[in-house]
Amino acid sequence: MESPLKIAVDFDGTIVEHRYPEIGKEVMFALQTLRKLQEQGHQLILWTYRSGKELDEAVEYCRRNGVEFYAVNSSYPEEEFDEDYDSRKIDADIFIDDRNIGGLPSWGEIYQMINPHEKPTLEEELKSLAQSKRSIFKKRSAR
Ligand SMILES: [Mg+2]
Repeated sequence: MESPLKIAVDFDGTIVEHRYPEIGKEVMFALQTLRKLQEQGHQLILWTYRSGKELDEAVEYCRRNGVEFYAVNSSYPEEEFDEDYDSRKIDADIFIDDRNIGGLPSWGEIYQMINPHEKPTLEEELKSLAQSKRSIFKKRSAR
């Protein structure tokens, strides 16, 4: 496989729908995609505004769903943040966040951007087609 990446992932609005401080419903295929990226050897970092109890709940939610983060709100597990020496921005190769300019792509698209040489299976293509139709429908019905 290609070299593993450090992938920073936001929580609210990205892995789950935005219901902070509650935990919203899963954004479609988020956890399945993260599990797959994890299996491929990538290092997933949870990079969220959550802290304390709300942060613990997010970490636990992901763990229950088979996603174990390499680090949480830090560049590596043992990092002890010292603002005199360390930057708040973490060291990652890719950031997945619903506040990206242009918004959050579907998780199928995210998977493909990270694995550009993998051709989607027919099943995946159908799923992502169904997903994009559904989001068009949502936008229409929201008017
Ligand atoms: Mg967010």
